[in-house]
Amino acid sequence: MEKIIIASNNAGKLREFRAILEPFGLEVVSQREAGFCQDVEETGTTFAENAAIKAKAVYAAMHCPVIADDSGLMVDALDGAPGVYSHRFAGEGATDADRNAKLLHKLDGIPAEKRTARFVCSLCYLDANGTEKVFSGVCEGVIGTAPRGENGFGYDPLFYVDGKSMAEMTEAEKNRISHRGRALEQLKAFFEEK
Ligand code: IMP
Repeated sequence: MEKIIIASNNAGKLREFRAILEPFGLEVVSQREAGFCQDVEETGTTFAENAAIKAKAVYAAMHCPVIADDSGLMVDALDGAPGVYSHRFAGEGATDADRNAKLLHKLDGIPAEKRTARFVCSLCYLDANGTEKVFSGVCEGVIGTAPRGENGFGYDPLFYVDGKSMAEMTEAEKNRISHRGRALEQLKAFFEEK
């Protein structure tokens, strides 16, 4: 069975990738399971660059097919911030609650119509020869004025689509419209064609 490494140790992401890739007869393993334990620094200025940096670091060490993803939130009123810094927005060791509190504070006084934002996800796939293919997905929404919902993670409680926060959606509902869901759909279509 051909092995494919997901350049992540996030259990939720691995579950999503397994569901999509295993039907194609691929053995999906995390980077830790594959024996890759380096911490790769995300020095890119775009999601696609960071996904490629992570995928190439794993490929260079393991020489087998790999998929890396990078994602984050872009807020129009903040000129696209936090963007590639979404995880680092409130500093080292901060929690999702800290990041959401900081985002609300920065948007304090900004009216509803100017609170537009999008989640973006880029996936970088390197095949057995190291040939690169990038897939991207976007989900448009607005940043609310208070968190709502208990599901999901990250900025989900503040990110509203059609009046509902992403943390109020079921996993299936979110996957249908989310940036990652859309990028994964493209990846799936690519493997179907292959
Ligand atoms: P990473 O791609 O796993 O490094 O994610 C970057 C950061 O973007 C996460 O830590 C979250 O703060 C945010 N983020 C990415 N995707 C989502 C999502 O689906 N919901 C909420 N926050 C997200």
